[in-house]
Amino acid sequence: MFSRDDLQQLAEYQGQHAILSLTLNVDPTRRTKDEYRLALRHLLHSVQDRANGDAALIERFFESEYDWSGRGLAIFSSQKENFWKVYSLAVPIVDSIVLGPKPYLTPLANLWDVYGRFVVGLIDKQGARFIFVQMGEVIDGEGILGEEVRRVKSGAGSTQTGRRRNPDEPTDRHQNEVIKRNMKDTTQALQQFCEKHTPRYVVLGGNTEVVNEVRAHLGQPWVERVIGAIAGDVSDSDQVIRDRALKVVEEAELKREFGLAEAAITAAAKNSHGATRIDRVLTAAHAGQVQTLLVAEGYKSEGYRCQQCGYVTMVPGAQCQFCGGAFERISDAVEATISKVLEQGGRVDIVHGHTALNELGVAALLRY
Ligand SMILES: [Zn+2]
Repeated sequence: MFSRDDLQQLAEYQGQHAILSLTLNVDPTRRTKDEYRLALRHLLHSVQDRANGDAALIERFFESEYDWSGRGLAIFSSQKENFWKVYSLAVPIVDSIVLGPKPYLTPLANLWDVYGRFVVGLIDKQGARFIFVQMGEVIDGEGILGEEVRRVKSGAGSTQTGRRRNPDEPTDRHQNEVIKRNMKDTTQALQQFCEKHTPRYVVLGGNTEVVNEVRAHLGQPWVERVIGAIAGDVSDSDQVIRDRALKVVEEAELKREFGLAEAAITAAAKNSHGATRIDRVLTAAHAGQVQTLLVAEGYKSEGYRCQQCGYVTMVPGAQCQFCGGAFERISDAVEATISKVLEQGGRVDIVHGHTALNELGVAALLRY
């Protein structure tokens, strides 16, 4: 299981030698095994001349150890530092390979933001079940059971006695009070469960009427984090509930990323707080303007880096315009941009499947 501590440890990694970071989407619903192998071969090939030993280690791992379980995989290898870490993930991840002084954490950090923590609540009139999911794995669960509610609705349930029920009858009023009490307890329990786990998203499911009632009384900030509803029953298994909720979370995240990509592209077109294409985004990043960087999945670009001050550009002059240093050609201008943005406290999102962004490569929302 991949935890926040793992992310922290990788972020704190210090080594004298370069480290190879690989992430691979192995989601069986998205690709066949042959497609992964091909993607893997392309990724390893792109670093072979620079990371020979580590690329070979990874190749060997896939040949002999890996069981193709999970939906995502992250590997960090530095043979010279004797550093080797493999994380099998319960959620899909983008493909990436980066050789650098530090582990390349954007894809994992991104995943953590999305799937890191969410709570699912299945609710009915009598009780509820909550699960807490971290990086796609069910970590905690809790059930609450209130007072039993006998069926009082008109229809099949009420014909048992052979007579029509009047909703104002005392027994019905009693039942409604029981339901009300149960919902109050459920809302309180959900509130506490959220406070314990601090989820980024909350997904609710079950009886629509009751769900709406609970939602109406759920406090901040959790009510704002409710992103959707799933069908389900309190008695469904954790895995079934998790899988349904994952779909809702994935959709919400895709919507969020697409919204950001569109906002950035529109802002760039209007020349207001937006930039597109690597050359302009690089200029903005160098000026510390980038708040959110959107990178089309798989986009790569060559560029030039000043050997003296580190300035990266697509159009090098004879010498660096900032320090007069000489430029060297680099194969990973996108990666350099990502590091720059992260260093400046900006956010980076790798976006999967956005047509306009795929054509542009990168887009950014600017601070000013
Ligand atoms: Zn320079």
